Amino acid sequence: MTVDPLALAHSVAELVRIPSVHPFQFGPKAAEFGDVGELAIAQHLAKRFEELGASEVVLDEAAPGRPNVYGFVPGRTDRLVVVDVHIDTVGVEHMTDPPFDGRIEDGCVWGRGSLDTKATMGIMLTLVDQWRTAGVRPDPTVLLVGSVSEEAGGLLGATRFRPWVEERGLQIDQMIVAEPTELAPIHGHKGLVIMEITTVGKAAHSALPQLGENAIEAMVPVISALQTEHARLQTLTPSTELGNGTLSITMINGGTGGNVIPAHCTIVASRRLVPGEDPNTIFEQMVALARAASPLPITVESLLPVDPDGTMGSRAFYQTADSDFLRLLAGHAGTEPKVAPFGTNALRYNGFANELAVFGPGSIDDAHQATECVAISELARAARVLSAWLDPA
Ligand SMILES: [Zn+2]
Repeated sequence: MTVDPLALAHSVAELVRIPSVHPFQFGPKAAEFGDVGELAIAQHLAKRFEELGASEVVLDEAAPGRPNVYGFVPGRTDRLVVVDVHIDTVGVEHMTDPPFDGRIEDGCVWGRGSLDTKATMGIMLTLVDQWRTAGVRPDPTVLLVGSVSEEAGGLLGATRFRPWVEERGLQIDQMIVAEPTELAPIHGHKGLVIMEITTVGKAAHSALPQLGENAIEAMVPVISALQTEHARLQTLTPSTELGNGTLSITMINGGTGGNVIPAHCTIVASRRLVPGEDPNTIFEQMVALARAASPLPITVESLLPVDPDGTMGSRAFYQTADSDFLRLLAGHAGTEPKVAPFGTNALRYNGFANELAVFGPGSIDDAHQATECVAISELARAARVLSAWLDPA
């Protein structure tokens, strides 16, 4: 089924014009456009799903005032597939371009979220509209999901969506997590543990250091131990295309004055996990390394929200590249299945659907930038692949 590229462009542009900056990245520039956010776009999508004949539409709060939105598009069979599109965007404070005008120019749709990742929702709305007009249905029932809080603050939307499905006893056959992947189906990316480690010493006059316990100096061997661990990880034989785990120190803070022995020093350590690594085990290993290295007591805290199952972080998302679903998407798109360096909502979906791919038009290289756009030709290409997958007839 062919789709009018301009209809796709207008559909994406309409979503861009409803600002939905993640609350953590909301600033004065975003505020010029009013107090709008994830709620506004969720409500808009709920209305659109109703207009397009969804059999059920649900607003489901992932956090107060921040609902996911779900819409069931009935299919011809009892197969259920999911298209999960995060509806939040990164901030616009660093943008050099009008953030939310959704203008169509030079063969592209412009504005925050056009690429990452309202594109896929815009395409799906256009396809559903077109099927409805033509009186056809997709093969599977399609559950369209607009999920909140992907860009920051711990994948709250995906974390909420999964139990919602499980409580209803629904079985998902195939699932797309929308992100810009240049239409290469992504079948794996690393997991994550992020922790804050603080050495706890005792303040004193720096003229009398023997009266204090220097927390910054105590942190030196901790950093060194973590660097050694990173180096050790690089010597392992990778189990998958994702390569090896990594460990990086990403923040450091400590001291209160030039003449004060520091009582506290805090670092943030970011550990990327490969398949087979358990976040809680890795967390405990890192704590043990830091504790053994530090001459002073330490405190630790996970900087990722604890999962309902008690996991402090996320396992890697991985499935082999040879699934029928990946082959189908790649075949229609003229691409190859790949793994990705970045994390997505798929971190919350291990073992959730029979088959899962992270997939969408445009390149992640162009996301989160001072300007943002998606090429209309890419929207059209993505629409052809999605339509072929969902097989309207
Ligand atoms: Zn994204």
